[in-house]
Formats: sequence, structure tokens, C-alpha cells
Amino acid sequence: MTKKIYKRNVCVRGPDRFSEIKITNPKPYAAGKEGIAAAMKHSFKEMGVFRAMSTLLHMNQKDGFDCPSCAWPDPEKPSRIGEYCENGAKALADEATTSHIGSEFFAEYSVEELSLRNDYELNALGRLAEPLVLRKGNIHYEAIAWEEAFSLIADELHSLQSPDQAIFYTSGRSSNEAAFLYGLFARAFGTNNLPDCSNMCHESSGVALSETLGIGKGSVKLEDLYGAEVIIVAGQNPGTNHPRMLSALEKCKENGGCIISINPLEESGLINFKNPQRLKGLLGSGEQITDLHLQVKINQDIPLIKLILKKLAVLDKLEGNIFDADFIEKYTVGAEALLKDLDCYSEKELLALSGVPVEKVDAAVNLLAGKQKIIVCWAMGLTQHKNGVETIREYVNLLLLKGAIGRPYSGTCPVRGHSNVQGDRSVGIMHYIDKGFNKRIETHLGFTPPAEAGLDVVGAMRAMHDGEAKIFMALGGNFLMAASDTDYTAEALQRCELTVQVSTKLNRSHLVTGKTALILPNYGRSEKEAGGTNCFVTVENSMGRVRASKGVLKPVSENLKSEPELIATLADTYFKGAHPVNWKLLGGDYSKIREMIDKVAKGFENTESRANGVGYYLPNNVRERDFSKLPGGKARITINKLPEHRLESDEFMLMTIRSHDQFNTTIYGMDDRYRGVYNERRIVFMNPDDMAENNFEKLEVVNLSSRYDARTRTAYNFMVLPYKIPKGNLAAYFPETNALVPYNQFADRSRTPISKSIKVRVCKRQSS
Ligand code: SF4
Repeated sequence: MTKKIYKRNVCVRGPDRFSEIKITNPKPYAAGKEGIAAAMKHSFKEMGVFRAMSTLLHMNQKDGFDCPSCAWPDPEKPSRIGEYCENGAKALADEATTSHIGSEFFAEYSVEELSLRNDYELNALGRLAEPLVLRKGNIHYEAIAWEEAFSLIADELHSLQSPDQAIFYTSGRSSNEAAFLYGLFARAFGTNNLPDCSNMCHESSGVALSETLGIGKGSVKLEDLYGAEVIIVAGQNPGTNHPRMLSALEKCKENGGCIISINPLEESGLINFKNPQRLKGLLGSGEQITDLHLQVKINQDIPLIKLILKKLAVLDKLEGNIFDADFIEKYTVGAEALLKDLDCYSEKELLALSGVPVEKVDAAVNLLAGKQKIIVCWAMGLTQHKNGVETIREYVNLLLLKGAIGRPYSGTCPVRGHSNVQGDRSVGIMHYIDKGFNKRIETHLGFTPPAEAGLDVVGAMRAMHDGEAKIFMALGGNFLMAASDTDYTAEALQRCELTVQVSTKLNRSHLVTGKTALILPNYGRSEKEAGGTNCFVTVENSMGRVRASKGVLKPVSENLKSEPELIATLADTYFKGAHPVNWKLLGGDYSKIREMIDKVAKGFENTESRANGVGYYLPNNVRERDFSKLPGGKARITINKLPEHRLESDEFMLMTIRSHDQFNTTIYGMDDRYRGVYNERRIVFMNPDDMAENNFEKLEVVNLSSRYDARTRTAYNFMVLPYKIPKGNLAAYFPETNALVPYNQFADRSRTPISKSIKVRVCKRQSS
């Protein structure tokens, strides 16, 4: 049996049918004419030519709206002909589509029927146009008035025995204003149960950077990339996930810098970039981006960096000035201990673990030896491992020994996924306690937030699964598909009394729900925040700059609400005026929310006026070489263990990846143009030698299974594709392979799921 039956007979995994797959060679470049064609195809199909072209001209412009996709920063002088990439255009088309669905559609299709569609088909249905309720025991959503929806939630919240029985999840697309209000409401209600999507992606970065440098964010600004001598891009695929980063890498190359990519896969965007804003990119050969690709085995970055450090240390002894002795002495602790620890490892052992040929390691050492302006960029290829925190700390070691911290054109660059994931955390979406933040709420807003830490994503899943949490509310996102252990998450959601989703489009989390479920539709980023005064919002990009985002489109339906208004009205309904915060007022005047943010969140100041135009940077101690928050006032060089993976002879190490036609859990299409895969997503990329040794044919259908804690989890029906990937390693798309990641397997200290290093077996279908 391949299907598990859930309450209401909904299907958690979608259909098993395959489409007509087409395979080509992977693309040797990214963007170019095909990128423009793909962007326009999606935009025109969803929005029509005029609406698409006129709206795109406002995206990422000073007085326009922020791209709803990734968090890559905009240049101070955006190009007037268009400052967006193919994926930004797809994200806009997805949100600004003119198709929409409401209660009539749901009267025709039950959640059971809808759950048999795949995630691409669900997303393609269009915008959600009115509030909907799935009542206890029913299988059809029906219309509900906003007032009734708010009363229903308020009544359920009042009925809880403890506020900690409610969970308030946030995805990274919400504005600062919405996220701040949401966190404030949760605290006023009495819980710190504020899990967010950051728990599943860059939490390891936050922990590692806080421990070593005293701030959980990166230190570089966009301009730093232009002037760097070496940029290391580790565990990241910017061509698909942060495409405009390629323009910054291109500029770095033009200014004489070089790029080292460290990744198990050689991704198209890092091979060559055909910048569509330039003639050379459109008609010529483009720009070769990577000077040196180190094809590290999955999760073997620590041995690789240790080896590079070991070789640099030898050079430093011989020639001097390879490491920055003055910087090390003045600003750091731990260098001596690290260098001593490096002596414990043989070069041979480290080399074998890394899987990188020695000539390539030596080439990296040569590129780094005489340079100081070094930046390390990374994404989930580093964070989503058991040792994600240690892996990032090892890269920080390299930067600290080279003195490449707190000087221009140098530093750390964790590249964030969702457009305001960093801002949400800055304005208070966190499950842990920030005493200063709580104190300022008490002083300025007149109530005392709860003092106990709340639940993160892992904790929330367990609490719902074990019946301890009864209400799940999500400000955006697709929790079911984003979280690990899909079956477990589905069971957890279904055990809730009430699930509430504030959403723009339909996804699987609306179909696998609590006993009662609500969908509250909200405006998209590109739509005008109607109704009140000062109704623009603000966001923070991956490099800590806060700026205004002003939607330009008429909302797709008159029956939507803005997130701030929606949260303020819910809070007002719940408290019925008996609370020190005047919630009603806040929903109609966002400047009042910004005044509160300025008083409560660290570093925000005069946001109302400063967020306009290019915006302003939040303070960053690393840029000032101020490590006073750390013990002894110094940055920490750390000793990090080698990863421990004991694979059985028939096990592989699997990493999850995104296709070029998706953004996080949103599937825009079924193609992955850069990797040469069309029309299908259930693919497992395998080294040809592994295929031969295990008798797998090209496109043979297999099941993938993982076994942790004596439990087998299976992802069914994947086609094997030969690919240039290290032997013993596999790659397959997220979120389809989330089913293999146990909810209780996560990074030490950050609790980020191990989605990039899952031990799996590949089973021929007859053996399933
Ligand atoms: S790089 Fe990211 S933020 Fe910029 S347009 Fe592309 S998807 Fe949007």
C-alpha cells in the first residue's frame, strides 16, 4: 500500500501519476533570453500583457513594492527598465494573477477531491477571494463573514485551558508591521509559541553567528560583494534561489574578484550568467561566474575547510602574513587552540572525507592565501545538517583568521530565502525570550509578556501531535509541506481543534486541517493596502536594510483584508477593548504600528520617514568590529568536530534541492530548466557509477526510504536520473522528500531539520 488514509480521507502526498517527462542536458548558463521568455510567459499568462508590464516596473523600485520572493537586496539605484529576475517575475505573476476562487468553487470540490491534485495544480487555481470555513465533520469549505470568523477564533482561544495550547506560526513573507502585531497579539494573549519558517532554514546561521560574532545576521552590504577579492558561495544555488545575486557576482568578477563555489552539485547559475540587462548577456557568451568549483561531498564542508586552514597555516609559518595576526590578537580568542586542533588531523583523512581532488584544494588555498577581502555566502546547503551550526562556525573561522570581518568587502553573508524572514525576526517573531524586547513592551505598551520560552517548529509539531496544542494559526506559508516528516505533521495538524490559515493561494495545508479550519484571505505584496492611512508596509532584506513597500494593484477581490488589519481586528475581537493596546486603531494606521516597532524592536528608529526611498540599515556590531556582547569582548574562533555519518553499505546520503520552477513550497511549474528536467518533480539524481553498481536504469521508478529511531519513512515513486553528483550522494526535490526527514532529527542547538543530509535506501519498486 502506498497511501496513508487521513481524517476526511484527504491525500497528503498528492497523486502518484507521472507526467510525460522530458530530459535534456543541464544548462551551462543561467538567465539569458530563455530567462526573459520564461518570466514573460508566466507573467502574461497570469496577468495579461499590460498589467504584467506596468506592475513589473514598480517591483524593487524605490517607491514601489518589494519582490514577494527572496530576500536579496536591491541596489541603491535600481534599473528603471526592470530590477527583477525570472523568479521574481514568476512570484509576482503567481500573486497578482487575475484568476481567483471562492465559495462556489469549494461547493463543487471537496477537500478530499482537491487533495488528489498535486501542489502545482492547487497553486494554479488562483487567488483565494473570500473568507472560508471548513466546519467540523464537513468536507466542503463554505463562505463565512469576517466578523463570524474573528468571533470563532476568539471563542476557541477563550476556551483553551492555557494560552500555551495555541500556536502562532509565521512564514517569512509577512511585513514588519504584520509580524510585529502578530507577535504582540500572541504575547498579549499569553504565549511565546511563535515558531517561524526561520526555524526550518537559517536558524543554524543565527545560532552560529551569535555564538562567534555576537549577532545572528550577516555582516556584508550589497556593495561589499562588488569589491571583494574572493567570494565563497557554499551550499547555495543562487541561480535558482536568489537570482539577482548573480549580478553582484558578475560585478565582483569585473572588478577583478574571483568566485569559489563549494557544493555537491555544479549549478548552472554558478557556471555562467547571461545577464539579461546587458547585451553581452543577451546576445553574447555571458560571464563565467565560478573560477573554482569544489565538488564537496554532502555535509563534508568541515573537513574541507579544516584542510584549507591547515594548508594556510603551513604557508603562514613559512611565509608569514597569510593570517591576520594583528586582527587575531586584537579581536579574537581561540586561534591558538584551533591551530593546535588542526594538527590532530591528517591531510589525507580530511581530503578523503571532503571528496575534493587535492589540486582543487591547493587552487583554493592559492586563491585565498594573499587575500583579505573575503566574503562567505551560504544558504541551506550549510544549515540543514545535524552539524549545521558547527559547519557555519568553521567558515567563520576562516574569515576570522584572515581578518576578513568588519572591513569593507569582507564578511558573512547568509542568504535568506523568504523576502522578509529576517525582518520578521527583528520585530519579534521568536519563540525564545529576549528580555530587552519584553521589557520595552512593558514600558511602552503597558503589558507584561509571558516569561517562559515558547515552542519552535519542532516543538509545535510535537505539541500538536501529542494533543497538547489545540489551535494552530499560520500567518502565511504552507506548514504541512514546509515542515519535515510530512505524515507526522499531517497527523499533528489533524489533531488540532482549529487551524487558521492567513493566505493568498490554496495549498495542501488548507486541505489537511484541524477539526474546524478557516482560510482568511489577505492582500498580496503588490496590492494597495486599502482602507486606512499611511498604509504602506516595511520589510528588511537579507543585509539588514529596512525599506518601505508600497503595493500598486487594486486587490483581486473586495473581500480581502490586509494582514495588519486582520490581526488588529482579531485582537480587538478577542480583548473586546479590555487591553492597554488600542488594537482597533492600529489596523487602520500603520504609522502607529511603526511607532511601536521603533520603541520596542532594537535598531528601528524614525521608520516612518527613514523607510522611504532607499531605506536605512539596522545597526550591525560586526561592521563596527564591536564584539563587546561576547564573553571577553572578542569574536570566537571555535573548534568543530568532523561530521559523523555511519552509512550502511546500501545507504546513500540524500540532499533536498529546489527546482527552477518553485519558490520554497510554491510550485510555479513542473520544469527544472537548469538541470534539464521537464514535466516531472519526482526525480532522484544519482551518480552514474552508483547506478551501474546498483543496477538502476535511467528513469527507473524507485521508492526512497529512511530509517531513524527504528521507524521507516518512505517517499514513493521517484525516477532515477544519472547526474554529476558525488558518489554515494543523491539529490531530490523538496518538499516531496520531506516525508523522509524525521521531525526529531535536527541540527544541534538550532533544531533546523536535517533536510540536506538524510540517510536513505533506494528500493526497486518490487521490493516496496
Ligand atoms: S533576486 Fe529574489 S528578490 Fe530579487 S527579483 Fe529575484 S526573486 Fe525577487
